[in-house]
Amino acid sequence: MRKAAALCIFLLCLAAPGCTRDEVSTSSQDLFAMDTFMDMTVTCADPEAALSQAADRIGALEAAFSVTDPDSDISRINDNAGTAVTVGEDTAAVIAAALQYGQESGGALDITVNPVLREWGFTTGTYKVPEPERISQLLENVDYRRITLSGDTVQIPEQMRMDLGALAKGYTGDRILEIFRSHGAQSALVNLGGNVQTLGTKPDGSPWTVGICDPFDPAATLGFVRVQDCAVITSGNYERYFEEDGQRYWHILDPADGCPADNGFVSVTIIGESGLMCDALSTALFVEGPEQGCEHWRSRDDFEMIGVTDDGRILVTEGAADIFVNESTMPVEVVYREDS
Ligand code: ADP
Ligand code: MG
Repeated sequence: MRKAAALCIFLLCLAAPGCTRDEVSTSSQDLFAMDTFMDMTVTCADPEAALSQAADRIGALEAAFSVTDPDSDISRINDNAGTAVTVGEDTAAVIAAALQYGQESGGALDITVNPVLREWGFTTGTYKVPEPERISQLLENVDYRRITLSGDTVQIPEQMRMDLGALAKGYTGDRILEIFRSHGAQSALVNLGGNVQTLGTKPDGSPWTVGICDPFDPAATLGFVRVQDCAVITSGNYERYFEEDGQRYWHILDPADGCPADNGFVSVTIIGESGLMCDALSTALFVEGPEQGCEHWRSRDDFEMIGVTDDGRILVTEGAADIFVNESTMPVEVVYREDS
């Protein structure tokens, strides 16, 4: 399906007026990194050079953020809990953002929830429902406010563990688009495991069409948005989960109780310019649920949201109402800034 999308983009470019092949051309690359399938398509004078530089950058970011590579910045922070560790500027930037969005979401986004995720088996694939006492015990060491970040130095208390899974891909997408821009690209699309980030328009000048999964039937589409220069990033309860005794347990935890966040949303799509912001907020608003999530949206003016509730409604913030096309049978409710 991704290959088909890439092919369409290529064909569009060939057919587009003003897109002379000897000036610019379009190339795509697939790769597997950060535990996910990624693909990138870029139109510029030397797309192969742009893609190769982007792939190198992805490799370097994965080496910094990985929780399994013992030499990564994150492993060094975790393995040296209780002492200060010097990290690279990418890691410091993502941690700084995580602390900001942690605070802004009242702790819904908490990058120190990792030991609880591990207990549920989401880091290993050996799933189990932990004993409530065990969760309470682990939650004692979950609190992003106890991370100390000063310049490029990070320190976490002993027993604490962090992971940047909730926002690393958004940051990575931003860096890839930055590389593409430096190669003069005016059109690019990056898909990092469902996190879509776009640069400019399609080569023919029309907006990109980004599909959104139906969380109740992920093989089907809920609808799509038409965007340019935007990230479209979704957190959903269908992305990674296991089932036990007829109950589904998913990979986004509510740091308030250490259980899969079940506050009313089954998926949240965030649309905005910054991939880092959209990735952080997709996870945060998923945890916050409809009421708090809409309040969070009202507190800022730089993103829009499409949230699907567990009772089958699609909440679309007013700025996204015009760009979202609903293809499902679920009703759309527009969320306004002011109560009308
Ligand atoms: P995905 O990466 O699956 O697209 P998300 O961006 O929502 O989805 O990130 C989910 C990842 O974030 C989880 O796999 C886990 O590593 C981490 N995580 C889960 N719950 C939280 C939370 N409340 N705060 C911060 N990180 C979380
Ligand atoms: Mg996220």
